[in-house]
Amino acid sequence: MEKLKILLVASLALIFQQTIFAQKKTVDLIVSGGTLVTMDGSKRLIENGAVAIAKDKIVAVGTSAEINRQFAARQTINANGKVVIPGLVNTHTHIPMTLFRGISDDLDLQEWLTKYIFPAEAKNVSEAFVRAGTQLGLAEMIRGGTTTYCDMYYFEDAIADETFKAGVRGVLGETIIRFPVADNETPEDAMRYSERFVNKWKNNALIVPALAPHAPYTLTTEHLNQIKSLADRLNAAVIIHVAETQTEVNDITKQYGARPVEYLAKINFFNSRTIAAHVVFATDAEIDLLKRLGVGVAHNPQSNMKLASGVAPVPQMLKKDLPVGLGTDGAASNNDLNMWEEMDTAAKLHKVISSDPKVLNAEQAFEMATIRGARALHLENLIGSIEAGKRADIAIVDFDSLNQTPFYNIYSALVYSTKASDVRTVIINGKTVMRDRRLLTLDENVIKKNANAYRTKIINSLSTK
Ligand SMILES: [Zn+2]
Repeated sequence: MEKLKILLVASLALIFQQTIFAQKKTVDLIVSGGTLVTMDGSKRLIENGAVAIAKDKIVAVGTSAEINRQFAARQTINANGKVVIPGLVNTHTHIPMTLFRGISDDLDLQEWLTKYIFPAEAKNVSEAFVRAGTQLGLAEMIRGGTTTYCDMYYFEDAIADETFKAGVRGVLGETIIRFPVADNETPEDAMRYSERFVNKWKNNALIVPALAPHAPYTLTTEHLNQIKSLADRLNAAVIIHVAETQTEVNDITKQYGARPVEYLAKINFFNSRTIAAHVVFATDAEIDLLKRLGVGVAHNPQSNMKLASGVAPVPQMLKKDLPVGLGTDGAASNNDLNMWEEMDTAAKLHKVISSDPKVLNAEQAFEMATIRGARALHLENLIGSIEAGKRADIAIVDFDSLNQTPFYNIYSALVYSTKASDVRTVIINGKTVMRDRRLLTLDENVIKKNANAYRTKIINSLSTK
């Protein structure tokens, strides 16, 4: 009788356990433990948090206890003692320019472009060059926790291919510019290329194909109008440099009787799919225009400082809640693709220029590198925060390095003391692309070897005029 009782209790316990287990939903991955910095609408910070991921999406966010009660995972990443953040969003790059890193420094934009960059590009840019530089840039970005970047260059189809293969998210556009370049002779050629490019990549899980007219000073009004019509027809985003230097403001004003932002608004070029890089020079009225038209802005503090272009009125933009993100610009004018440095620089640059230490705080800088950056790329419904329903783009950051010890405020520790080398694991679209600092989709040694081979080639190309 006693035996029977024990058996009965044991069977009941088993049934109970099975019922509980059956109620648990199985997901592909749970990131569990650590401090979760969600960047959701209420900026929730969750201690001992967890994220449940199924395929490419975040399905639930909560405490580890809550998530582990509801979900069973095929794979778990333990983030105890670490900080779990949304993947960083780099809103402006020219990724293959990593191969020109340090080629010529300490010059202003016009001299730098016309004496070094344009000639170096004319002699070296090929599809193979672009692939090698893109792989280098992708590896560098993943290592620093960047999961989405917005790019404008040549052979952008090869960039999209490399980006997709590496498992990185990209808003990518082929440069349209008035002079002949390596892969297109004319703006018309580049527009035809862009149409094929957008149609090829438009349904891709990682690539958001865009159009990328270089700048208002390198294209005619007629070309800009044609590009705008094409983008409308394709429903594509448009990436353009705007008001980067005082020279541009002077030239555009002289030619068109309006400042760059005013001019582009006047010809109906802007809309809620535009991503404007730099916007260093914008009046209050122009900031209102950008806001009203829903234009995203990419602020590149280090590049603007290095080329002595000026300081964009970012605090004024933030006051008006503009979608303004942070970007590194190409590695030739930075000279890296490190978003941690951009956050730190943005927060400090605006303090020194306004003599007001409160003008842009650490939390705002972190927001610009995540959810506000996602807004700048018009992708806030997909990325930029750790929330159920969004794509699983996540970085896990070590929080016990010397430069982070001790820490008091999470945003301040992230922006002012965390380094790219503190990023430990990176997940993009639900896939782990770096695990414990080991790249899983790219071969670092091959990348460095290729890049160094190009260095020799580039030096030789510039010495033979
Ligand atoms: Zn640029």
